[in-house]
Amino acid sequence: MAAPPHTSPAATPLEGFLPVDPETEAAVRVEGGKLLELMDAHPAPGILSRKGAYARLMDWSMQDPAFKTQLFRFVDVLPSLDSPADVIRHLREYLGDKAVELSPALRTGLAAASLAPGLAAGAVRAQITDLARQFVAGETPADLVRQLLRNAEAGRATTIDLLGETVVSAAEADAFLQRNLEILDTIAAALARDPSPAFSDLGPAGPLPRLNLSVKISALTPDVHPADPDRSIAALKERLRPILRRAGAVGAFINFDMESYRLKDLTLALFRSILEEEEFRAQPAAGIALQAYLRDCERDLRGLIAWARQTRRPLAVRLVKGAYWEHETIFARQRGWPVPVWSRKPESDAGYEKLTCLLLDHADLVAPAFATHNVRSCAHALVQAARRGLDPRAIEFQALYGMADDLKAALIQTGHRVREYCAVGALLPGMAYLVRRLLENTSNESFLRRKNQGGATADQLLENPVTTLARSSGDATPPGRHSLGEGGPSRVGRPAVPDFRNAPTTDFTVAANRERQRAALDRLNGRLGRKWPLVIGGRPVADREYIASTNPAHPEQVVGHWARGTVADADAAVAAGLAAFPAWRATPPEERARIVERAGDLMEARRFELNAYLILESGKPWMEADGDISEAIDFCRFYAAEMRRLARPVVTQGVPGERCVQVWTPRGVGVAIAPWNFPLAILTGLTVAPLVAGNCVIIKPARQTSVIGAQLMAVLTEAGVPPGVLAFLPCFGSDAGARLVSHPGLAFYAFTGSRAVGCGIWEAAGRTPPGQAHLKKVVCEMGGKNALIIDTDADLDEAIPAALASAFGYAGQKCSALSRLIVLDGAYDRFVPRFLAACASLPVGDPAEPGTVVNPVIDDAARRSILGSIDQGRREARLAWQAALPPELAASGGHYVPPTVFTEVRPEQVIAREEIFGPVVAILRARDLDEAIAWANDCDYALTGGLFSRSPAALERAARELACGNVYLNRGITGAVVERHPFGGYKMSGGGTKAGGREYLQHFMNPRVIAENTVRRGFTPPEE
Ligand SMILES: Cc1cc2nc3c(=O)[nH]c(=O)nc-3n(C[C@H](O)[C@H](O)[C@H](O)COP(=O)(O)OP(=O)(O)OC[C@H]3O[C@@H](n4cnc5c(N)ncnc54)[C@H](O)[C@@H]3O)c2cc1C
Repeated sequence: MAAPPHTSPAATPLEGFLPVDPETEAAVRVEGGKLLELMDAHPAPGILSRKGAYARLMDWSMQDPAFKTQLFRFVDVLPSLDSPADVIRHLREYLGDKAVELSPALRTGLAAASLAPGLAAGAVRAQITDLARQFVAGETPADLVRQLLRNAEAGRATTIDLLGETVVSAAEADAFLQRNLEILDTIAAALARDPSPAFSDLGPAGPLPRLNLSVKISALTPDVHPADPDRSIAALKERLRPILRRAGAVGAFINFDMESYRLKDLTLALFRSILEEEEFRAQPAAGIALQAYLRDCERDLRGLIAWARQTRRPLAVRLVKGAYWEHETIFARQRGWPVPVWSRKPESDAGYEKLTCLLLDHADLVAPAFATHNVRSCAHALVQAARRGLDPRAIEFQALYGMADDLKAALIQTGHRVREYCAVGALLPGMAYLVRRLLENTSNESFLRRKNQGGATADQLLENPVTTLARSSGDATPPGRHSLGEGGPSRVGRPAVPDFRNAPTTDFTVAANRERQRAALDRLNGRLGRKWPLVIGGRPVADREYIASTNPAHPEQVVGHWARGTVADADAAVAAGLAAFPAWRATPPEERARIVERAGDLMEARRFELNAYLILESGKPWMEADGDISEAIDFCRFYAAEMRRLARPVVTQGVPGERCVQVWTPRGVGVAIAPWNFPLAILTGLTVAPLVAGNCVIIKPARQTSVIGAQLMAVLTEAGVPPGVLAFLPCFGSDAGARLVSHPGLAFYAFTGSRAVGCGIWEAAGRTPPGQAHLKKVVCEMGGKNALIIDTDADLDEAIPAALASAFGYAGQKCSALSRLIVLDGAYDRFVPRFLAACASLPVGDPAEPGTVVNPVIDDAARRSILGSIDQGRREARLAWQAALPPELAASGGHYVPPTVFTEVRPEQVIAREEIFGPVVAILRARDLDEAIAWANDCDYALTGGLFSRSPAALERAARELACGNVYLNRGITGAVVERHPFGGYKMSGGGTKAGGREYLQHFMNPRVIAENTVRRGFTPPEE
């Protein structure tokens, strides 16, 4: 069996924290005590120590987690609200929530706000702006210059951070680059006029660069794809080089900030790779932030030090704990990946201390900067530096603007260098930053909160984190201690169905996983063209006509040949199934469940190989293919768990003297008819659900992906499905397929596919010819014309990437894909130009390349049909954007369709009503939410749909009124996950059945009730 695919760096163990050394502890208490005393002597106005409205707000939010969540959500949405009425409406919606308790003062304020919205909205906006000003050093370069000079006067050095984190288009990244260049020029000019460096600008060997800029790489390109680091690094370098060049010219220092874990390896690789370029070997001076809350931080720091020694490149490391703890925890848990951060706060602190020592050991080449507001962490660094005999100026402390001013002053007073991290920029992009700071300040575990609000003693504040850990229980994540436990998702990691957990997808940011995928592709490329026979009654049937199945990106490449089933084969498959049915029905459900689970395990073991089949035969990009495999595995495991549940008889009535139970019995023999777009997942779901329920199944895969169908047959056979229970019958709909649809011996059809075929099956199955003594069951999933509504207050940084992924992932060939974007008038001018610009960054290409998002469509017929729809759109609406396909793609013969967006679409137009199944989006402009919901619902289909909004009332309304089987709020509308999002629609989207849901299996069984009179001459058995 292959090794598990999720070789995660998060599993790399730290070699244990530093042992507690009494001598060091005593010294830390002295140093820390000194700092605390100085801080108490000169208390600085921090956010928690301020008086008045803020203090009351922060106090209340720390007492009531529900209030805190709502308040921070309100802060987050505020900059996008245009009118006073909007501000007050949101305020009421958030703070009027029943779960939120308001202090009497806040309650009065809220009531008064409704009476004079104009006045109140202005006041609220002013308050929040003021709050933001606590953390943001200014909006303009001139503000920054002033702050720099103020810092210098106080002895502090400065590092500059330009706010603005999410860029969705090249134009936005260019603008960000330009702002960085401008700030370098402006500040360099200002500093040239003022030659006196601050106390903290002098290092052990003389002056340090006074101009110090912190850069976040996510703002440098929209084209970051962690699964494709080479391409991402190339794109990032395009905008990083000009910054480094300018920094070199003006003598500035550039620091790479560290963001989410997803980008960590990429950031490290970029840092090394660009600084190895000839032109940047010597300058500019550069550094990088490392996050001690990551379990693999030690490995990264050691790697960086080794690299610096090897290349003789001096650098600086800013050691932080990490600002994305909640995000990392939720992100990993949602995906079933190992959580990369420590789960207990003192672990991060202890990790920080260990890494402090490692850094100090290499201070000759790697300049250590300790970015923390924690006095214990600072005191420990001071003690360890002194123990190593380091010049006090060899180490730097860093702190954020607006926070821990008393600590900054105390450190400078004791002769240590301090650099202030000054965020500058407009309020809107600053909100994410502000919310992060508010969370940090109000978190139960934050040092600042414990010091300023918690009443902790100096001894408690200065306790060694290893001692704290030893004292605490073994519970890795005590509930309720962090915001995750405070109104966060209550079901994190807890399966609703016992014994079932979703199969994690592969983390392609891990290099080993990328290598395994490449190797699997190479292996499959070396053995393409095999012949795949039919399988009937457990025997291969090979002497048939063979049909070639080709690669959509390279149609000349034959992935394999499949035997074409005939009408006689269809009859034979039904007969074999009917013969096998009694024994399979009698097989204990537990045994059937185990066989199906084993199939899931086999798929997991063959994951990379199966991915390769999907990439080559269905044209799925890596991550889409991998998601398909996970879903297939989920179906196996979930339906197995469901069968165990349903196998337990249900006692239906409790009257004395009668025992009534309901049991389920399988229907008979049926057909699984699957589409090519989820060639393994849907085919598996349609097959294993009836199979585990005790039915026999004829597998009819889509013609375009029958080689993948053959893999499923092989897996199920290897898992132990007895001969005859399954038949593998790829065939054409016109003959053998038609025979299956009308066959009187069949009991059910499990179908997913087009509306035309689905309706045909539904109708045919309704006929009961003479000799057929049963009604057929049809489980039918068809298409969609799915709409996503963008509200006026939507978070566009979130909505745009979600809309792109929903519309263009797998080239829009998903029944759930976004096809109509309904944008409210108030958001239109902000959303549409950004969305169109973002479309231009979509990587279109061969799915064998890991960074591809938009692949070729499945075949030439599909391509021609989609191009026809595009022509229709041109006649009806305005072609707002269409990708220009690179010449090499056009010349490759692949079935590429340029992603296309139409604007000025009216709801009655064909382009807004008919399913396209390709990378085409129609944008409609709606007056308000009423109109948007009416348009979304005015459609033959009811599959997926969603809303991006930050209005709780609008979200509630969408949940109630959007007519779709799957409603998605503030997220993309594709990517349903088994058990979490049972999937399926109604109207012309399907029969209302939910794949991956708790009622699904029952469709393949008949309920039976057994009522037994247990009374014998007046007495009943004792258990009654
Ligand atoms: C100058 C400067 C630059 C910074 N740059 C970056 C940067 O580039 N990237 C970045 O990510 N952050 C950065 N930060 C933020 C930093 O990572 C911390 O979030 C912040 O400083 C709080 O840590 P602390 O040591 O000051 O406070 P403390 O209160 O001692 O520590 C709080 C930190 O502990 C960790 N933590 C909290 N709860 C838990 C838990 N349950 N289990 C494990 N760990 C937990 C978190 O990292 C949290 O931020 C920077 C901070 C400063 C001061």
